[in-house]
Amino acid sequence: MTETTTKTPGLRASLPEFRWAGVERRAYKDEASAPYKGVTRQTLASDPRLAGELRYFEVEPSGYTTLERHEHMHAVMILTGAGSVLVGDEVFAVNPNDLVNIASWTWHQFRAGPDGKLGFLCLVDAERDRPRLPTREDLDVLRAAPAIARFLDGAPS
Ligand code: MN
Repeated sequence: MTETTTKTPGLRASLPEFRWAGVERRAYKDEASAPYKGVTRQTLASDPRLAGELRYFEVEPSGYTTLERHEHMHAVMILTGAGSVLVGDEVFAVNPNDLVNIASWTWHQFRAGPDGKLGFLCLVDAERDRPRLPTREDLDVLRAAPAIARFLDGAPS
């Protein structure tokens, strides 16, 4: 039997304020190429032997993630706070333990409410395509639905 070396520790202990031992809190995106406001990212699980990655994102009050779509899917579990999410042509209010499923090529965006942050776990493929941003025409189509227009304008849900 051969010993294998693992770079991933068996436990990353929970710390106060939705932090985990040994996990860095980083900016949401590597580049400032996409619009977003007040979002941080912690990569909780990422390993060449895993086909997926588990990340924790935190959105500050009235902040929002990038409005985007892509081939890869997301499974998101809200951990803390409250806010709203756009999934395709629907807007949902979200609270802790709600599960949000985002299918391929579905427009999506998360927004924190004005009174507190929104924190959520996000499961994705480790190898994934680049997110696409909406064109002017895409935004016109989305905004034709009043609920989506209110969501995109940051109106309280
Ligand atoms: Mn996405």
